[in-house]
Amino acid sequence: MASKRPIVLITGGSRGIGAALAHLAAKRGYDVAVNYRSERDAAERVVAACREAGAAAIACQGDMAAAADVIRVFDEVAAGLGPISHVVNNAGITGRSSRLEQASDETIRACVDVNVLGALWVAREAARRLSKSNGGQGGTIVNISSVASRLGSAGEYVWYAASKAAVDAMTIGLSQELAGEGVRVNAVSPGITRTEIHEKSTGDAARVERFRSKIPMNRIGEPEEIAETILFLMSDAASYITGANISVSGGR
Ligand code: NAP
Repeated sequence: MASKRPIVLITGGSRGIGAALAHLAAKRGYDVAVNYRSERDAAERVVAACREAGAAAIACQGDMAAAADVIRVFDEVAAGLGPISHVVNNAGITGRSSRLEQASDETIRACVDVNVLGALWVAREAARRLSKSNGGQGGTIVNISSVASRLGSAGEYVWYAASKAAVDAMTIGLSQELAGEGVRVNAVSPGITRTEIHEKSTGDAARVERFRSKIPMNRIGEPEEIAETILFLMSDAASYITGANISVSGGR
């Protein structure tokens, strides 16, 4: 079904920053595809809220670390909503927090699989479908990085910081490849933001609050504050911005 509203695919849209973005995008006039890996109920709740706000919305299961799933999800969005105009490369994990010397092969590999390979699969598919020389209509890609790529995450997840440095590099190179294709490519680097990612990495729900003193603004970020910056980069207000990487981190 064709849609006149812009269509955004949000990878990892069922919780946290992706879910906040889905809610806000629906209110701002986008139709929304909510990708998730395992928590179908959470994704369906986000879809219901988007519909409540007047958007067409669908949930699409798919592991973004699997290249075949990425292609299938893009196909499902095109069939269910219409041609995708915006892609937010948001799905990401840290793995269990530890010093690097204590991290298992599995922890490091799973993080790199999702955050690096997954981000590349998604960006590649977006480039194929959005580029004007491929018959696409142009659009935007926003990659979700982290301030970890410049801070290094010592004692917590050095491998995660390294994975986000790869996202930063990809953003610069792909922005240049697609600048003549009607596709702007930017990154947002959140600081500590109030989502479940912290509890999942440490088993400690209070972890985020302990970071407060390290943040110049002396508070934790809210997912909606990250979503606002993503939406700005997707919008025509950012029409001359490509290859940028905006920290949304309370000064950290
Ligand atoms: P979150 O609350 O843990 O949510 C992660 C989302 O990603 C969920 O919807 C999850 O879906 C999905 N996901 C995970 N692995 C996936 C995969 N392989 N394929 C598809 N979906 C997958 O995390 P968040 O804090 O919102 O993080 C979102 C992004 O922001 C990540 O890239 C993260 O690195 C980045 N970030 C977060 C912070 C922070 O402090 N929160 C700071 C800097 C950067 P399922 O539950 O179905 O698996």
